[in-house]
Amino acid sequence: MATYQYRCTGCGTFDVTRPMGAALAEEPCDTCGDRSRRVYSAPMLARTSAPLARALRAQEASAHEPRIVTEVPSARRRPAPAADPRQALLPKP
Ligand SMILES: [Zn+2]
Repeated sequence: MATYQYRCTGCGTFDVTRPMGAALAEEPCDTCGDRSRRVYSAPMLARTSAPLARALRAQEASAHEPRIVTEVPSARRRPAPAADPRQALLPKP
């Protein structure tokens, strides 16, 4: 089912739900019954928020252009050692 929008000259816009492709050029107004013409509007083109758009661009770029690392990260940025004490018993590389 799809929702189609119609505009009555006296009452304003209203929606009609019909199967896809079954929209008529005119529908009777829900309120007054006058013939109302179909209104073409943009489909649900919600804009992506800026932070999400940046994250998606970075994710896509990293798949094709991975960031080149030229030096070892500083000790401050290295991940913290594992909290599990059993890992301390494992051989070190
Ligand atoms: Zn009307």
